[in-house]
Amino acid sequence: MTSAEQLALLGGAPAIEQPLPHEIWPPPADEAELSELAGQRNTDISIKGNSGPIGRLEADFLAFLDGGARFAVTFNSGTSALLAAYFALGVREGVDVVGPALTYHAALSPVFALRGDVVLADIDPDTRGLDPTALQAALTERTKVITVVHQWGHPCDMDAILRIAERHGLRVLEDCSHAHGSRYKGRPVGTFGDAAVFSLQANKAVYAGEGGILVTSDSQVHDRATLLGHYRDRSRDTVLDEDLRAHWVTGFGLKLRMSPFNAIVARHALAAFPARKEARHRCLRHFGERLGDVTYLEPVHTADHVDMGAWYGYKPLYRPQALGGVPRSVLIEALRAEGMEVGAPSGPRLSTLPLYARPDNPLFPGTPKKGVTPETGSHAEHAEHVEQHALSLPTFTNWPEDTKLIDQYAEAFRKIGRHREALVRYAADPSR
Ligand SMILES: *Cc1c(COP(=O)(O)O)cnc(C)c1O
Repeated sequence: MTSAEQLALLGGAPAIEQPLPHEIWPPPADEAELSELAGQRNTDISIKGNSGPIGRLEADFLAFLDGGARFAVTFNSGTSALLAAYFALGVREGVDVVGPALTYHAALSPVFALRGDVVLADIDPDTRGLDPTALQAALTERTKVITVVHQWGHPCDMDAILRIAERHGLRVLEDCSHAHGSRYKGRPVGTFGDAAVFSLQANKAVYAGEGGILVTSDSQVHDRATLLGHYRDRSRDTVLDEDLRAHWVTGFGLKLRMSPFNAIVARHALAAFPARKEARHRCLRHFGERLGDVTYLEPVHTADHVDMGAWYGYKPLYRPQALGGVPRSVLIEALRAEGMEVGAPSGPRLSTLPLYARPDNPLFPGTPKKGVTPETGSHAEHAEHVEQHALSLPTFTNWPEDTKLIDQYAEAFRKIGRHREALVRYAADPSR
């Protein structure tokens, strides 16, 4: 440490040289992708069945899951695919879905559109997904579906969750929107539950721009989910149950299909994914090692039996007691001054959002929720801890080009540790 070193927040030179943004996602298209998009423009810009790029994307996606699911159906968003999944799994008035207290809201919000209710259970501090003990405690006599979200790429404790589901005769929906390529004990996520949904929105590791894909091995789930979002050709050609297929002209009233352009983008992203995943893993392993001696950070825990797949952000926890009690907001301010792309993760606990918190279902005024508190039990202690302490850092993807940047990030964290006293004084100064 040179005596001249000062926090950038207090006028010193920033530790990170490269200008923002540091996470550039999605990556630009290559020539092959652009020429396929151009070709599609002059052949077919609306695919009513599952031919061409739609069918190819679905087939490639099933192969990506090692053939662990029988059916794949594309939708125009992950949220649409989740709506179809909840419908297909039997959510309706009087049905409760148990899900994690801290996740992206759309994992559970479509339940309300079907007049179902959501019961929130605490997360496991290690996986950051649904905690099996909290899940068990949250079950009601109306529970029919368990939703697991493999949050930020880390698979949930599937053995324990599937045991609970089996014991109580419940269906399991996996939201894999953060977890393309993640594996639990060697098996791809998305192949454990009765249905799974992967968002393909632009921020996700495999991106269509806007899009989502539902996978299942249950033909009834496939048929009902297809009919919810696909009328005419697709339903006529793929719905297996004859009685359900009678609805092929109308479906069940909604049209939620993907455009061929999005399917082309997604298929190229899927093909590029394995190399990008490998690069992310190298970058984030290196980052984790470099952060090892930063005592005020709790590095991201990844269990030995999981593969983190897409990762979806690098989110260590802040330990304020190791930095003189400086609030997270001041730490973030100081890190940003050092040139870092950092923030608090964007999604709050679901119980703080009006759709979840209010006693009535606002889509159907006068329909009270069935006496379920927003968070079952005393409160979602671990969800609250992660919500209040996590830092959101870039998912570095360029290896080895990002090495220098990653090293500077780690240096910025260490620099702040060396200037703890100055930061404590800054945080305490009411005139700042
Ligand atoms: C992105 C996301 C969704 C919603 O997907 P869209 O494609 O944006 O509609 C749902 N759940 C999770 C966990 C997500 O990250």
